[in-house]
Amino acid sequence: MDSLVTVLQTLAEGKVAISNEQVKVYRDSFTEYKKDKLIMVKDLEAKWILAVGDGVLYESLTGETLKGYGKRCALSHENRLVLNQYFPYTVPQAFGTEIATMGLGDRLGLASPGHIETIKPYRVKPILAQQSIRELTLTNRSMIDILDAAAFAVFQEGYKDGYGADGDHIKLEKDIEYALSLGISFLTLDCSDQIRNDLETISVSDIEGEYEKLPAATRDYYYETYFNKQFDVNGLEIDYDKVDVIKNALLYGEALDYTEHVYKTYIQNAEKQIDFEISIDETETITSPAAHFFVANELIRRGVNVTSLAPRFCGEFQKGIDYIGDITQFEKELKAHAIISQYFGYKLSIHSGSDKFSVFPSIGEHTNGLLHIKTAGTNWLEAVRVIAAINPELYRRMHVHALEHFEETLQYYHITPNLDTIAPLEEQTDELLPAYMNHDAARQLFHVTYGILLTAKNDQGKFLFKDAFFQTLNENEDAYRQALVKHIGKHLELLGL
Ligand code: ZN
Repeated sequence: MDSLVTVLQTLAEGKVAISNEQVKVYRDSFTEYKKDKLIMVKDLEAKWILAVGDGVLYESLTGETLKGYGKRCALSHENRLVLNQYFPYTVPQAFGTEIATMGLGDRLGLASPGHIETIKPYRVKPILAQQSIRELTLTNRSMIDILDAAAFAVFQEGYKDGYGADGDHIKLEKDIEYALSLGISFLTLDCSDQIRNDLETISVSDIEGEYEKLPAATRDYYYETYFNKQFDVNGLEIDYDKVDVIKNALLYGEALDYTEHVYKTYIQNAEKQIDFEISIDETETITSPAAHFFVANELIRRGVNVTSLAPRFCGEFQKGIDYIGDITQFEKELKAHAIISQYFGYKLSIHSGSDKFSVFPSIGEHTNGLLHIKTAGTNWLEAVRVIAAINPELYRRMHVHALEHFEETLQYYHITPNLDTIAPLEEQTDELLPAYMNHDAARQLFHVTYGILLTAKNDQGKFLFKDAFFQTLNENEDAYRQALVKHIGKHLELLGL
């Protein structure tokens, strides 16, 4: 037994190669349960957990017994569940409304260690697993893969301050049920299917006609509650004329019913605390402060407690680039949205929040640092930047393929890059390739083609880029980590968290 512990201790110092292979040891992962000891290591084949001991934890982990010194445990789903059982810090948890949270979706399953290092000095909790159904489909990954990768990252980093897992932009009840059964701690309910998109284009008399179809009691309720009423929301005045009442009722009525149903069926009865976010952002209709107040006020009346709410802000929050629009108007509305959120006691949520550097300072200021902000693809762009710097040949092939297939992505993403502004690849020296990731159109080109690039295969069924891409990143973990610390760190710095 002593010799096993010695091996483990030596491993923790990063000095030992097993079976003559070079082994990288993740010292921060070292952990004990009674007399069993675990540490994460990586050899030429894979990352795995070395377990030493003879107790219940050791016995529970599945793996190949290594003669003389322990067990080689794969980063499998079943071993993740064992870690969850013995080490509560590896289980996703809810954070409520008293501290900021940041969604850090990790499309590759490689970014979380860098994300953890980034957020450590800030007043924010990481939601490490956050993947929309769209992203899962485009990358051929499952929700289980995402949750496993997050838990192993937390274990690897020895990060014990808690993390969350978001079932992101879920619309259907069957998906809600499934995500909750897997242990998510955060649910983002996407109500866009319940929000009407036709009201901006039809006439007032047609809108009134639609309203007449609602039950009389419902119409009376909305009139009595909102028509010609003044609401003082911590100094912000909100009122509604007749058309406002009708429009809000028609726009959000069904979404409110659905949210109430989901809350009372799934969130209130969940086995553990769940951060519940309602998103009304993925619609054509900009959420005015009055509409936001209407939705929030109705949620409270129905006994629905949300942790955060994502309005659709004015201007554009396109993926991977800075805010587009009138910053003065944005700040004015943001301030109102923040006041309303604070009044009702939940956090304002900012979606597509990566790279919005010009508006981060005002977001931080008006929310008093209590917000939820989602980022996703920006860590993929940082991975591409690392590839451009370290493996220029691979980058060049990906760049060409992305340009050829860009059109196909427009069915999933609303972005408007001018691809003509991207400097011709053949004129760039290798040293200049990483600079593409500073160029808006090139960023967006890569931002939306991730699924195509990571799943592209040649005629023999071999991946065109995926294997080389992962190999380069795996061999250069520290470069990727540093890139994330720099880029995501800039977000947190400007948000003032
Ligand atoms: Zn959204």
